[in-house]
Amino acid sequence: MATTMMEGIERVVISAEEIARRVRELGQAIAADYRGGAARDLRRRPLLVVGILKGAMPFMADLVRAMDFPLEYDFMAVSSYGNGTSPGEVRILKDLDCAIGGRDVLIVEDIVDTGHTLQHILAGLSARGPASLRVCTLLDKPHRREVEVPVDYVGFVLPENLFVVGYGLDYAEVYRNLPFVGVLKPERIREE
Ligand code: 5GP
Repeated sequence: MATTMMEGIERVVISAEEIARRVRELGQAIAADYRGGAARDLRRRPLLVVGILKGAMPFMADLVRAMDFPLEYDFMAVSSYGNGTSPGEVRILKDLDCAIGGRDVLIVEDIVDTGHTLQHILAGLSARGPASLRVCTLLDKPHRREVEVPVDYVGFVLPENLFVVGYGLDYAEVYRNLPFVGVLKPERIREE
């Protein structure tokens, strides 16, 4: 096992500085979009930001602090089992603490790949009758999409068919705490 995480990294794909800049932009864009609605109408509940655990945790923590208006947040945990070619099974491991009927809801994801995980989350949450349901993802792999899912805010589109780690994204549960998004050394993938 490596003693520093950097030893396992082949190259940085998105630096901590690039992430910080983009998260600020996203926060400002989202705030501008929602400010006109519930944020101004005191009779309505504030926007509910829903982070999808575990991957979205660092992104979500930075994003909500870049959104300068009152909001609430909650978390869901899902797990997908699949081999990459089949849709797999998506299970809810932790559901929301609060009801979302009639509320504006923004889902925050780490990455949208085939789209199956997000499709399942959207189907489950829209059945509960939110006033609106939007999606913000840090990373998008549109060329890998198997099902069409609406994504309203995207941090970065990954240019190639890369498997990335860091800033919430794991390999076998490790590397989530890297401050940047990078690619693992191939030998590291076989070793661990
Ligand atoms: P989906 O294929 O359902 O859109 O995405 C399922 C999950 O696959 C994501 O939430 C994420 O956990 C994982 N995933 C997809 N691409 C990557 C990647 O490049 N790196 C890592 N670490 N996980 C990924």
